[in-house]
Amino acid sequence: MKIITLPCSFDNYSYLIICEETGTAAVVDPAEYYPVSCAVASAGVQLRAVYCTHHHADHIGGLDDLREEFPDLDIYGHQVDRRRIPGFNSPLTDGGTVRIGRITGQAIHTPGHTSGSICYLFGTDLFTGDTLFGAGCGRLFEGTPQQMHEALNSLVRNLPPATKVYFGHEYTAHNLKFARFVEPGNKAGEARRELVEEQRARGQATTPSTLAAEVATNPFLRCGEEEIIRTVAEKFFGEDLDPLSVFAALRRLKDVF
Ligand SMILES: [Zn+2]
Repeated sequence: MKIITLPCSFDNYSYLIICEETGTAAVVDPAEYYPVSCAVASAGVQLRAVYCTHHHADHIGGLDDLREEFPDLDIYGHQVDRRRIPGFNSPLTDGGTVRIGRITGQAIHTPGHTSGSICYLFGTDLFTGDTLFGAGCGRLFEGTPQQMHEALNSLVRNLPPATKVYFGHEYTAHNLKFARFVEPGNKAGEARRELVEEQRARGQATTPSTLAAEVATNPFLRCGEEEIIRTVAEKFFGEDLDPLSVFAALRRLKDVF
């Protein structure tokens, strides 16, 4: 299996997943048509499927033109998005299987950013859309803090730390500034900021990261940490400080950061 990262639009990432044995491919979140079509042509593969992590326009912007070029595409997403994704024909629910060539993957329903948000897992490669970012998480447009908190923690609970995280936007540098704001004493966060600064200065993507790196530096996965709890207590004096309340407070702080 080969993964090609495709920077699209302003800061979106699409990903081409290739089964090298069969020369077939699928694209995760075709944000734009041209980068995907060009990558398919230059890899010399047949595009068979689209895996949508959710219905937002910046993740499906290339879909109409791709359907014209490849009329037989299987277009996957969560079944609640069936009327919100053009050409939708392959509904998924939690645990559903997807196949491209000889590669098998699994849909993990992770509601929070939207009600139908899905992460796709292929072996140790996880495509998270706008659910889990480098050092951050998606805004809560259609879900509750509880849903997102549970979705993120279930990924950490159920998947190995070495799992690679392929996220939907290049937000990592800004997210790490927020991470420093809420947890200035986190050494791993400091090291990651330096690394990300170097990567961005060279024009490199910060995707993929790993679940281990996220657990070490992503404040939304660190809601039980003393320093984060203290920051939240200062900003939201008097609130309950269980991990879910800390998560909800962090998300509200980040919305205006
Ligand atoms: Zn989105």
